[in-house]
Amino acid sequence: MGNNKMKLIIVYDNQIYKKGIGLKSDWGFSCLIETKKETVLFDTGAKHKVLFSNMQRLGIDLDNISKIVISHEHWDHNGSLEALALYLNDVDLYRIGEKNPSENMRLVSVLQPCEITQEIFTTGLIKGQVDEQSLVLKSEKGWYVLVGCSHPGVGKILNTAKQYGNITGLIGGLHHFNDFPILENLKFICPCHCTKYKLNIKQIHPTKYVEGGVGKIIEI
Ligand SMILES: [Zn+2]
Ligand SMILES: [Zn+2]
Repeated sequence: MGNNKMKLIIVYDNQIYKKGIGLKSDWGFSCLIETKKETVLFDTGAKHKVLFSNMQRLGIDLDNISKIVISHEHWDHNGSLEALALYLNDVDLYRIGEKNPSENMRLVSVLQPCEITQEIFTTGLIKGQVDEQSLVLKSEKGWYVLVGCSHPGVGKILNTAKQYGNITGLIGGLHHFNDFPILENLKFICPCHCTKYKLNIKQIHPTKYVEGGVGKIIEI
């Protein structure tokens, strides 16, 4: 097993993937990334009660989180931050906004692309209708991009992300994205959360399409 193996667990989403264990769906997105050394939470969903309940049912220990990244400042992505700040100590918060919810978290204000862990990088601030940052993950299976809502546009995000390397996979909310040929070179597409044209993506790229939802685990 190599060093760059990582595990993504979707903990907050509009739909449920793993049924029968009491997971809750709700409008919003959050995905936990476990690398060999660190656990990073990407976005927090809207309601902390839903987030905490899902994490508990998935056997995730909040205490393991050492870094939190907020893709953009919408309530369905940053809504649990204040509650998280009450439970967590010594956490780095990567945010493109300036607001720090508590002294328990060290704010890292993101503008430029930078390294978050050895395997996790941010695209930096990408301008759009709403400014947003996305994560670029260096895994054993290649480079994967993890997005919140893709407000600046999927094409713009993928173009910014490829400064790190050829992009293999895309995971997260794609909003109203419908420029489907852009996905041609990807091998793995897991549209989540606000993606309006999930079915079209599934029809056009059936072998690359991966169903998301709360409880979905992606090992890359
Ligand atoms: Zn949004
Ligand atoms: Zn959203």
